[in-house]
Amino acid sequence: MRILGETTDATPDAVKGPIASTVGQPAGPLSDDGAESWASDFFGAADDGFPTDSSELQQEVEDSIAPLLDPYQNGSADLASVKLDRAAHNKFVQKNLLSLPSYFISLDASKPWLVYWTLHALDLLGTPIPPDTVARAIATLAACQDPDGGFAGGPGQLPHLAPTYAAVNALAIIGTAEAFAVVKRPELLSFLLRMKQPDGSFIMHEGGEVDVRGCYCALGPAKFLNILTPALRSGCGAFIARCQTHEGGIAGVPGLEAHGGYTFCALAALEILQETSRIDLPLLAAWLSRRQMAVEGGFQGRANKLVDGCYAFWQGAAATIVECALARVRAEDLEEESGKREDVDPTDMYDRVPLQKYILLCCQDPGGGLRDKPEKGPDYYHTCYVLSGLSVAQHSYTWSSSEEDIIPRSSAKPCIVGAPGNKLPVTHPIYNVLVPHVARICSHFHLPYTL
Ligand SMILES: [Zn+2]
Repeated sequence: MRILGETTDATPDAVKGPIASTVGQPAGPLSDDGAESWASDFFGAADDGFPTDSSELQQEVEDSIAPLLDPYQNGSADLASVKLDRAAHNKFVQKNLLSLPSYFISLDASKPWLVYWTLHALDLLGTPIPPDTVARAIATLAACQDPDGGFAGGPGQLPHLAPTYAAVNALAIIGTAEAFAVVKRPELLSFLLRMKQPDGSFIMHEGGEVDVRGCYCALGPAKFLNILTPALRSGCGAFIARCQTHEGGIAGVPGLEAHGGYTFCALAALEILQETSRIDLPLLAAWLSRRQMAVEGGFQGRANKLVDGCYAFWQGAAATIVECALARVRAEDLEEESGKREDVDPTDMYDRVPLQKYILLCCQDPGGGLRDKPEKGPDYYHTCYVLSGLSVAQHSYTWSSSEEDIIPRSSAKPCIVGAPGNKLPVTHPIYNVLVPHVARICSHFHLPYTL
């Protein structure tokens, strides 16, 4: 299963971005004293003695992270001294700006993704983007734009919703008049409408597949460029609502398994539409909370899968959006009771400290770059999304009725694990570019365009 720009299993390890993962949930039948052994196994202590492929893989992960986490759990090492190695990660990301090894040919159809992952990672690390890099990024993105609208993965390729999302986000990060002028807005709206299906969903490209990625990758750019027309919105929320499963998470299409990447895309799209009331938010909140791993502290993508660093963003940002949506519902209820409208502080749905420990202690590659888990190599996808997840975990957000958006909660102290210098700038949990970039691109395109 692929989410957004994530690479396939055929991709070399160095550029891989696995989306799936497994958990230490009870394996095998319960014995007479099952209640106790089930509980201890579920929370990652004793094993029930009934191994399966999943439980063995889970044990391997727990064994691999124990030497990294244990010294900080038992107090023999000082957590306050743990640093995000900005210099090493910067070096890793900046290598991407010069040239890529030949095996990156597998990402030839993901050029706007490489640009976005690189620029957003630099932004999060607080590294100014060099002017020549900006010029090259704009030229690359412009070359990927189709004359009839939308962006392709590479020059001359078929326009596709995923690179369109990545390209518009990258241009939002650059944020200059020259960058904004790249986008052919009327043609892009025409492309998005051509991808629209009668049931409200979107195909990813002409002749391509339908899933909830399409909704997010169409509506995000449309919101930024002020082309979110009634025709684009129509039926989309209803389609997404059909994808929520009995577990509470959201699948790619109706009837499939709930999954973290799809859940993020679906929920972010609903939030853009202001239609989160179409789904069962408490059930989704419960599903998201259960995806945080008891031993590792990071998130898994679905039930019974392994931890993976990139879900720090997919699940962490989804949890943040649900927290804010539930706070909005609570504020509306209170307004009905008292006649007074006041925003309500959201309630945390996951534990931000263990997640940050997993990121800092298990996801930093000593040679630079961030990774899925310790036995994996770093790659640009994981570097972008693990850092994005760290930003979301450090900051508090709230729904602002006056701004009609999820905004950083200025009254809340950031939750910074490790050295104070680990603090990252605030990424927007819906769009995943820094918060000021969202305001800048929206104000640039403040005049609506409709066909
Ligand atoms: Zn991953």
